[in-house]
Amino acid sequence: MKIPLLDLKAQYRHLQPELSAAVQRVLDSQIGILGPEVTALEEAANRLLAPARCLGVSSGTDALLLALMALEIGPGDEVIVPPFTFFATAAVVLRVGAKPVFVDIQPDTYNIDPDLIEAAITPRTKAIIPVDLFGQCALYEHLQSLAQHHHLYIIEDACQALGAHHCGNPAGAFGDISCFSFYPTKNLGALGDAGMVATTQPELFEKCRILRNQGMEPRYYHHYIGGNFRMDAFQGAILAVKINYLTQWNQQRAHHADHYNRKLQQADIATPIIASGNDHIYHQYTIRTSRRDALRQYLNDAGIGSEIYYPLPLHHQPCLARMGYDQSSCPHSIQAAREVLSLPIYPEMSETQVDYVADKIIEFFHAST
Ligand SMILES: *Cc1c(COP(=O)(O)O)cnc(C)c1O
Repeated sequence: MKIPLLDLKAQYRHLQPELSAAVQRVLDSQIGILGPEVTALEEAANRLLAPARCLGVSSGTDALLLALMALEIGPGDEVIVPPFTFFATAAVVLRVGAKPVFVDIQPDTYNIDPDLIEAAITPRTKAIIPVDLFGQCALYEHLQSLAQHHHLYIIEDACQALGAHHCGNPAGAFGDISCFSFYPTKNLGALGDAGMVATTQPELFEKCRILRNQGMEPRYYHHYIGGNFRMDAFQGAILAVKINYLTQWNQQRAHHADHYNRKLQQADIATPIIASGNDHIYHQYTIRTSRRDALRQYLNDAGIGSEIYYPLPLHHQPCLARMGYDQSSCPHSIQAAREVLSLPIYPEMSETQVDYVADKIIEFFHAST
């Protein structure tokens, strides 16, 4: 049996007629940027994230960049970010001329540890970017009270958590501005690059809307220096179809995760921990073991895909060497980078496939003890 990390063609097979019709509508309309298909996606997303309102943008990275621009964060400012995340979370801070200040994660949930934030706050700190990593929210009660007390913005990087909830509120409800990615491998994926920002604050919504299109309103009158952060209409049309399946897909992911959790009790690994108040959508099902690399090789030999998200914490990235970050700081992030492994999980997976992966993992640990 061969089991890939993710099987996008399996999803496509179910949706082919609907997706073809959606793509054909864009062709017929000859509106390739924003337009009614993107509006339809935004309206569906508004229903998921109410009372926040959503704007379709060009990518998750651009969503984060747009958020920083809308909050006027720039040179001289510091932004607190976890170092155990996708690079874009910190790269956007550098791109606006501000400085990422890394704060370690909790070793169990992999999300930023609120207890370590206060020590990292300086008079220059303007914002925190918590990441809802692998599909569960960061600890927002604590983060929001810190932000309020120190007058900091929260930019929620919810790129991996669309459809997750924390204490009854959806991921994306916790930032002054929240950011999503529809990169094809995300739990809601386009067929190209796309992303979204969400906010409950009407002034910020307007500012993001104008910044998305060169800071321009009306045409050729520029209030801000924005960018071209507009969503492609084909992506909007595809996403407007797929978003109707998101809840069902997230439930299927959670079902597979439960199955993994039960079976993997027999193996010497740590299965995902869910913080109280969270429901996890398992964008990734990530285990950890000190024997990660050998396990990964064993799975690969058995035809099973896996991936390491992420092998190098951000303060160790070569392009940031000049910044002089203390290489021994954030030890939990460093250790997680050595030990985590994400297993195949996608809605169309069969129980037999989940069993096969789990059995191979159990076999690995039995064979070697
Ligand atoms: C995917 C991702 C991004 C970037 O999104 P793109 O659409 O690829 O630009 C940012 N942050 C996190 C946590 C992500 O997973």
